[in-house]
Amino acid sequence: MITKAFASDWEGGWRYTVNCYRGCVHGCTYCFARRYHEFLGYGAGTDFETKIVVKPNAPQVLREELKKTRQKMPHIDFSFATDPYLPLEASYELTRKCLIVCADFGVPVGVITKSPLVTRDIDLLSRINRISDLSIHISLITLDRELARRIEPRAPTPESRVRALARLREAGIAAGINCMPVLPGITDNPSDLEALVKRVSEAGATYVGACAVRLKPAAKKRYLPFIEQEFPHLAERYRNTFANSAYAGEKYREGLAHFFGKICAKYGVRDWSRRDQEDEGDESPTPALVPDVQLSLNI
Ligand code: SF4
Repeated sequence: MITKAFASDWEGGWRYTVNCYRGCVHGCTYCFARRYHEFLGYGAGTDFETKIVVKPNAPQVLREELKKTRQKMPHIDFSFATDPYLPLEASYELTRKCLIVCADFGVPVGVITKSPLVTRDIDLLSRINRISDLSIHISLITLDRELARRIEPRAPTPESRVRALARLREAGIAAGINCMPVLPGITDNPSDLEALVKRVSEAGATYVGACAVRLKPAAKKRYLPFIEQEFPHLAERYRNTFANSAYAGEKYREGLAHFFGKICAKYGVRDWSRRDQEDEGDESPTPALVPDVQLSLNI
């Protein structure tokens, strides 16, 4: 139930993930978590979106695990294998019950979600915020409702996510936007991305993070046929770019980080996407982008 996310040293304060569910009805075509469903013996395609595993004992197991912790409490992230606020959560309340456990133990918490259901737990999140570290990451790759519906067929609408962000911020909770993944040729139009950063900065986002799509084999199996069907003019470029790599081209990724650095500075929001990037110097002229996948990102 508790996954060691980055290392195995619980006492040393590494980060762990808790996923009360597995599989995700939101069905994002690019989802990297699809491959985790294969670990359970299910498929990464339709199975991932329809065969949802529920772990009713998750809060109890988490409490027992935390009781054994003798030194520094681990940082726990809710996400990575699913969205912790699936529609099922409205009735099961497993994420909520796990948050109660985290609050009881003063555990630092991170939450990644696309769902406004997270605002149901503002009372608990505020409690954690007072006694420990808390960060909420709302995933949002476009403001275009129709486009979002094609890419993330059953996820909550973009506008509902922005409203959730605003409510969290009004409650004094650190919450920002993961504009991840940016989809080359589809969601990377510069003016659209700028409008997104502007909109979420107005809603109080504490940061915006962005990175280009990454396609491991299970995600590729779902995403490339989707591109063939929905965006056939991009199919060849995607096939070529991702034939031997999970990543978009380096120049594309660098250009994206640079672009987000500029627009985040313009709207006064912290740019998280540049955190692991080399400083290219904001004063230097912006180089022409020569992406490996042809883009509408044209800075
Ligand atoms: S909401 Fe997250 S976990 Fe669910 S399908 Fe989309 S990217 Fe995957």
